[in-house]
Amino acid sequence: MDEASFGQLKAQVKAYVEGRASELARQIEETGECGRDIWDELRALGYLRLAAPEAYGGMGLSLSRYLELLELFSQMHGSMRMIVHVINGIWRPTDRLATPAQRERYVKPLVRGEHTVTFTLTEPNAGTGTDIRTSARREGDQYVLNGEKWLITFADVADIFLLFCRLEGTQGAQGTLALLVPRDAPGLTVEPMPPTMGLTGTGHGHLFLRDCRVSAADRLGEEGDGLDVAFHGFLDPSRICIGMTCVGLAERALTLAVRRARERVTFGKPLAQRQNIQMMIAEMATDIEAARQLVYHAARVFERGEDASAAASMAKLFGSEMLQRVTDRALQIHGGIGYFRGSEIERIYRDARAQRFEEGTAEIQKTVIARARIAAT
Ligand SMILES: Cc1cc2nc3c(=O)[nH]c(=O)nc-3n(C[C@H](O)[C@H](O)[C@H](O)COP(=O)(O)OP(=O)(O)OC[C@H]3O[C@@H](n4cnc5c(N)ncnc54)[C@H](O)[C@@H]3O)c2cc1C
Repeated sequence: MDEASFGQLKAQVKAYVEGRASELARQIEETGECGRDIWDELRALGYLRLAAPEAYGGMGLSLSRYLELLELFSQMHGSMRMIVHVINGIWRPTDRLATPAQRERYVKPLVRGEHTVTFTLTEPNAGTGTDIRTSARREGDQYVLNGEKWLITFADVADIFLLFCRLEGTQGAQGTLALLVPRDAPGLTVEPMPPTMGLTGTGHGHLFLRDCRVSAADRLGEEGDGLDVAFHGFLDPSRICIGMTCVGLAERALTLAVRRARERVTFGKPLAQRQNIQMMIAEMATDIEAARQLVYHAARVFERGEDASAAASMAKLFGSEMLQRVTDRALQIHGGIGYFRGSEIERIYRDARAQRFEEGTAEIQKTVIARARIAAT
């Protein structure tokens, strides 16, 4: 896409986020639903195929270009942001080791919006990574799966689960599998989970696999490639994107805080004229800019084709902790009224908290960063 077309697209996204999306945010909070009509609207606008290659029906934006738009999208309601983030990202791990036949059957229809795939890693009884326990046993041209997955975003609407499990008797990354499990696979049950603190309207599910049968032709890559698909196919670019969603949401929180500080008069002066409030605003703005630069640094490492794991984890770690600091201060500047339902900062504060779990906690990011740093020294 040339500069002029990208400029137009960015202006269109900005107008959508500031206009129509803010109406939808109110609607989602009132009804508790972020329904099919909102998915359809985002699809029709082309906002769910921004980052996928043109050859697959996407717009082919580079990661850095996509991040510029994601900063804007992240100022929308958390559930709308989640749709944009997941659908613009999930094609990558699905595509990473796909055969030409799998690409035709799964990746291209995904980009075209003909089906929805969701990332299915977390388990109730294991850590999120090398100790996953959901097991697979090969029987002829099928795998027989047993185990559980939970906290899975869009489990209510997904047609296909990009699910990670391991061959019976294996340990660590060895024997891990990435499988495309159709929702109607025999032996798979999906139960809805309770509503979350924020992200109103996003469904999450608990999956039970009891002798669930999946075709071996729906395995991505070889046996043993499962965690490569999960980490390098999905989590590295996705953690960079989460870093940017933190920047976008923090920017919105800061804008609201500054507006409030200008309007609110106490003891004869607007809050914005008080030095302590100005110091808070300066620190918030600096925190956001530092996070933004770290995100773009990680994106450049990724775009050069280098190992981006540590840089992505730094962007995610710093971004999510920055967002916590900024939203806390923004709420403080609003005063007590900001704590009440119906105020935008109250919703942002709840939506922001999810970012400290999405794509791994701070502790897990630190483990990745430390491992890389120790290995490099
Ligand atoms: C809103 C939401 C949506 C989600 N969507 C998805 C999804 O679509 N797909 C999916 O697969 N998952 C999803 N998750 C799960 C998310 O990725 C996990 O919650 C996250 O990775 C943490 O794993 P856990 O919940 O199992 O925490 P636990 O592993 O139980 O960890 C609890 C605490 O202990 C710390 N901890 C754990 N292990 C260690 C260790 N070895 N050393 C030091 N500290 C440790 C953790 O950092 C954390 O602070 C979602 C979660 C949320 C909240």
